Amino acid sequence: MASIETVFKSDHEEVVFFNDQNSGLKSIIAIHNTRLGPALGGLRMWKYDSVDHAIDDVLRLSRGMTYKAAVAGLNLGGGKAVIIADPKTDKSEALFRTFGSFVDSLNGRYITAEDVGTDVNDMEFIFMETSNVVGVAKTHGGSGDPSPWTARGVLEGIRACVEVKLGKDSLKGLSVAVQGAGNVGRELIELFLDSEMRVFVCDIDRSRCDQYQNRPNISVVATDEIYDADVDIFCPAALGAVINEKTLARLRCKIVAGSANNQLATPECGDVLYAKKILYAPDYAINAGGLMNVSIEFEGYDELRANRMIRNIYYAIKTILHDSQKENLPEYRCADRVAEKRMAAISHLRGRYLGKTQPTFPGRIVKR
Ligand code: NAD
Repeated sequence: MASIETVFKSDHEEVVFFNDQNSGLKSIIAIHNTRLGPALGGLRMWKYDSVDHAIDDVLRLSRGMTYKAAVAGLNLGGGKAVIIADPKTDKSEALFRTFGSFVDSLNGRYITAEDVGTDVNDMEFIFMETSNVVGVAKTHGGSGDPSPWTARGVLEGIRACVEVKLGKDSLKGLSVAVQGAGNVGRELIELFLDSEMRVFVCDIDRSRCDQYQNRPNISVVATDEIYDADVDIFCPAALGAVINEKTLARLRCKIVAGSANNQLATPECGDVLYAKKILYAPDYAINAGGLMNVSIEFEGYDELRANRMIRNIYYAIKTILHDSQKENLPEYRCADRVAEKRMAAISHLRGRYLGKTQPTFPGRIVKR
């Protein structure tokens, strides 16, 4: 588990703690790497067991964002923020506006957005204090909730996985187990059902599955049973580290492909998946749709452009899977290599955002 020592041992550029007695805000922002541009990554609100857990999470998530932006071909670095509090009971205008002023104090080095436990309404409050937030409401010239775009990107990636692993160009008749019926999970379920797939779903918040009880082609299963489901695809859409020593022995799927960040508890778990001949779509490569969508706010939001960008996830995943087959290397290692190669090749160039203190976000309407 992490501690302050871990921060200094990590390769992060900057980790900032923020404490505000008035609003009760306890928050950490981690900026992992800004070689390609300002660090962008969502704000997670979670009732962490300890500050050490929160540090661990923000360090891992922000590092993943660096790799995600690099593989997605974006001129962005990696960062992430966490608020240590319960999203069900602790949300307030003061909390998010105070967080917004915290983000603003970083002068554009970190840009925030939605993540687990936060939504577009929370971004509205943050937007009252800083421009350095994306995924803001469409009424403000933003792009709104990134979750539907993340889900569409995951579907593109799954198409690539199914072609490579199962030799099929259609998802019809395939089965998928979705872990988590939250913002992305719900969107994914609709896309899977539209694709005529057989869906199994679970959520620790059982009420999120109520809507599926009487629908055809979908079954609700217990949270612990999801790993044993005899399905073609296991689709993690909840929290991270779900591919671990315990679950690896249970998985019966042929493909692991989903939206959750940091699915592998350790890199070695990716080696075990590969040895078991379970194809793994590297999480940060397949779940980049939401990041791609919000990144367009930097240049004035355009939905057509978002659609085009998200289709690239199919090609990005295919490239990674082909490299993996050709070189007999686990998929996660091929993805890391794509990211590291791009960073090494172009990070000396002065991208449009580098060297500027603040992104401008044309088309944004700022109401105060
Ligand atoms: P969310 O909070 O809306 O949904 C997560 C759901 O998972 C919740 O319903 C929660 O009750 C459930 N859950 C938590 N632990 C569980 C468990 N052990 N078993 C079953 N269900 C469990 O979050 P989201 O925005 O849908 O994000 C889901 C995942 O995708 C996260 O890992 C997030 O980091 C990642 N992600 C999201 C986006 C996005 O656009 N929202 C983009 C990239 C990655």
